[in-house]
Amino acid sequence: MSRQICLILLGPPGAGKGTQAEILVEEKGFLHISSGELFRRNLENETELGKKAGQYIDAGELVPDEITISMVENRIREIDSGTDFILDGFPRTLVQAKALKEILADYDPDVDEVVLYLHVPYSELIERLTGRLTCRAHGHVFHKKYNPPQEQGVCDYDGSELYQREDDQLETVKNRVDVYMEKTEPLIAYYRERGILLQVDAGQDVEGVASEIESKLEKKQW
Ligand code: ADP
Ligand code: ADP
Repeated sequence: MSRQICLILLGPPGAGKGTQAEILVEEKGFLHISSGELFRRNLENETELGKKAGQYIDAGELVPDEITISMVENRIREIDSGTDFILDGFPRTLVQAKALKEILADYDPDVDEVVLYLHVPYSELIERLTGRLTCRAHGHVFHKKYNPPQEQGVCDYDGSELYQREDDQLETVKNRVDVYMEKTEPLIAYYRERGILLQVDAGQDVEGVASEIESKLEKKQW
């Protein structure tokens, strides 16, 4: 029997992590865990966690490690044994990456930790993010130009309203990309050294990226 996979999607905001995660959910049955979505659900439901995280998210800053790690840890503990899962947007700092290693060892030492690094030229990111449309109900993503919904303003998957995230405005987007460079980029070297990093050219169109991911995962080239 093959081992349970924890697939970490690493890459700057706008690289296509959420988009590719949805494809892997549909085609391979992965469970999708997005730290950004977990935060947005808490914000909507006005939980204590949401109140603590909101100010950071609005400013395009990272939510402090302590808050983020315990939120994701609680979610991972709920996963049924044997279910392959995707972590989208977590970890984003070295402290988080090291904490994840411990969390997984505690959850099940046999889980295979694999990292997909979605590499995209910086110049692409701003346009992808400022044109992004997100669905209210489940966070499905579309793009005004590159991936428009069939009906304007309506999610293809669940019929809910599409909106522009507050933090997808130009000024906040620029800050989020800067924060990524400073805090998250060092994870590439960290995972490369551990020998579990797979790099994908995410500057292609959505289908091109998906097929490169599929073939690299099949060949287990990490
Ligand atoms: P992330 O989760 O990494 O922030 P998303 O998956 O939300 O990225 O994608 C950001 C935006 O770019 C969305 O509007 C999405 O529709 C669009 N997008 C995703 N992948 C591509 C691609 N390969 N080419 C063009 N646009 C893309
Ligand atoms: P994107 O898909 O554009 O990369 P996310 O939806 O993953 O954005 O995250 C939105 C915001 O939620 C981030 O800008 C940050 O404020 C917060 N956030 C999400 N994941 C983390 C994390 N692992 N650590 C700290 N903050 C996070």
